[in-house]
Amino acid sequence: MDPPHAPGAPPCPSCAHPSCRRGRAARLSLFGGHRAEFAREHLRAASLQARNPHLLIWFGESTLSYWIAGPTGLAEASGPDSLTRILEHVPASL
Ligand SMILES: [Zn+2]
Repeated sequence: MDPPHAPGAPPCPSCAHPSCRRGRAARLSLFGGHRAEFAREHLRAASLQARNPHLLIWFGESTLSYWIAGPTGLAEASGPDSLTRILEHVPASL
């Protein structure tokens, strides 16, 4: 866990602070609608999407959270753990 980030300070070169990640991402170009800062999250979403073709799963760069759209509606997951929990409760297929 990174120590707290000083308010107003420039983004750290590498850390998990949401504000720093947003700051670093803002300096990057969009590639395929994604920014490299969030490559790990997009990869996780794509991997889960491949295993759950009946759902739509993506990582939202604005919210820094995962989103799952399925037959029961839209769900937001704050991180990988809650994403896994949500997917465990979605029917395996339609
Ligand atoms: Zn930071």
